[in-house]
Amino acid sequence: MSDTEDRDPALGRVVIAEDALGARVRELGAEISTDYAGRQPLLVGVLKGAFVFMSDLARAINLHVEVDFMAVSSYGHATQTSGVVRIIKDLEADLTGRDVIVVEDIVDSGLTLNYLCRNLLGRGPASLTVCALLVKEGHGEIDPAPAYVGFTIPRLFVIGYGLDVAERYRNLPYLAEYIG
Ligand code: 5GP
Repeated sequence: MSDTEDRDPALGRVVIAEDALGARVRELGAEISTDYAGRQPLLVGVLKGAFVFMSDLARAINLHVEVDFMAVSSYGHATQTSGVVRIIKDLEADLTGRDVIVVEDIVDSGLTLNYLCRNLLGRGPASLTVCALLVKEGHGEIDPAPAYVGFTIPRLFVIGYGLDVAERYRNLPYLAEYIG
């Protein structure tokens, strides 16, 4: 990011700094490496928001992993989920008998994740767990509850580290509050 963009008035305070993100992602990778020792999990990244987290997480896992991606879109207002989820891009991998780890950027109402997990569980995986970088305080019911959570954050709209507003700020290396 250039200095000009660092002074962007839409950027509020830093919510999670770059070094804290890196350290926590390495911890999550170590936990997954221990929990899945001897197995070859399939990381399913939820595009587009999870692409940065997924790439750091995959490199923090000391196992043979495979990666695949899904893209979903929820209808409704840009900064609020409607619960109606549409699959824009489906997986290439067959999930039958696989140990699947769904890698999600942020969980708020839980509707996106609940929909995705129901859909993926119908494809016959051996196991399915969720690794969410961020969970918002006061979030809705999450089923299944994420086995791995990076950070619980206040109810702010955050951008950076893969998260956008109108497709911008995904390349910010830290998480910031969006204040428009
Ligand atoms: P949920 O279905 O859990 O309410 O919302 C999940 C999705 O809403 C996330 O995958 C993300 O696309 C979007 N979302 C929720 N909160 C935020 C936020 O604070 N910042 C951004 N950029 N997206 C968010």
